[in-house]
Amino acid sequence: QEPLDVESIRADFPILDREVGDGAPLVYLDNAATTQTPEQVIDVFSEYYRGYNANVHRGIHQLSQEASIAYEEAHDRLAEFIGADGREEVVFTKNTTESINLVAYAWGLNELGEGDAVVLSEMEHHSSFVTWQQIAERTGAEVRYIRVDDDGYLDMDHAAELIDEDAAMVSVVHASNVLGTVTPMRELADLAHDNDALILGDGAQSVPNRPVDVTDLDVDFYVFSGHKMAGPTGIGCLYGKQEVLEDMEPFLYGGDMIRRVTFEETTWNDLPWKYEAGTPLIAQGIGLAAAADYLDDVGMDAIQAHEERLTEYAYERLDEFDDVEIYGPPADDRGAVVAFNVDGIHAHDLASILNDHGVAIRAGDHCTQPLHQKLDIAASVRASFYFYNTMAEVDALVDSLDAARDIFG
Ligand code: PMP
Repeated sequence: QEPLDVESIRADFPILDREVGDGAPLVYLDNAATTQTPEQVIDVFSEYYRGYNANVHRGIHQLSQEASIAYEEAHDRLAEFIGADGREEVVFTKNTTESINLVAYAWGLNELGEGDAVVLSEMEHHSSFVTWQQIAERTGAEVRYIRVDDDGYLDMDHAAELIDEDAAMVSVVHASNVLGTVTPMRELADLAHDNDALILGDGAQSVPNRPVDVTDLDVDFYVFSGHKMAGPTGIGCLYGKQEVLEDMEPFLYGGDMIRRVTFEETTWNDLPWKYEAGTPLIAQGIGLAAAADYLDDVGMDAIQAHEERLTEYAYERLDEFDDVEIYGPPADDRGAVVAFNVDGIHAHDLASILNDHGVAIRAGDHCTQPLHQKLDIAASVRASFYFYNTMAEVDALVDSLDAARDIFG
């Protein structure tokens, strides 16, 4: 794999040049929370507002036609990006969280009941954890949690035990936003389908960072967010297999999602519009397609390879210290996140001191309180990388830990 020309990539991201605090150069290592946006995406966004801002699907006038075509083609672009069959299988939502809620409400509330099980893992993000927990409570379904072992891997024997004939839905993260664990999604899909269950893959941390093909994964649903893949905020995707989306009830009702409305009854629009009620996320959707173009230009294989180098280097440098505990699988087998604690320094204090040095990392439970309970820690700090990060930025992270040790040590 050719190394990335990170210097020229960074020139596309104006924000990376800024300074923070007392003039420290920004070292942005909070990419699992939100990634930065290149000029190419910002341009597409502003071209929309400067040139053809209009509501879609309703207008005869030229602006509306231009906006409709761009918005619809954005679905084609995203379908291509994740290996879906076509726009019918790509619903635009606000984010990963809304995508999961859409499935939980539209499918879960109607299909789940006493005797059914929803199978999650112990490392799910709250967006999946809380949503399924609530829907299970309302429907009488049981929630089961696949064990995460001491090395941060899913216990696949336990998965095979839990995914039995009562399982109706398996909803598992594809790459953990804390441990970095990459789960065997295809194996989980086969287990689910052998038991007539559906599977939802949470791709929030995988679609941005590695090539993903939903057809190869054979998942029924797959969800991700635009703001974690160099796209705008306020846009996410729900991929669904066409036959599954055809069968499912709508989530939100209103304009645009209907075919015909009479005093007696209403029929639904074609896919994917059946699931996009009201004025959709037009600028954001078009911006997300531009982000997919940008990522493909850089190359998803090259992005993954660069992030693996950064992650391995960060892990190895951090691992040299006796007072640092890193959570999750080994350096060479994880997504681009490294969550850790430094002995004797609270995660929030550490993040605050690093911020004084320009280093932006996250502290807290990263929306995975149950996982943190299992790890028996209140919080952790998390450095997370994207393809525009450099080895020098990893050094800046590691070196600034000393400043925290000086204060608290
Ligand atoms: N799942 C995972 C694995 C995540 O990392 C995140 C974001 N931290 C989400 C879901 C939720 O994404 P959003 O906040 O964009 O809905």
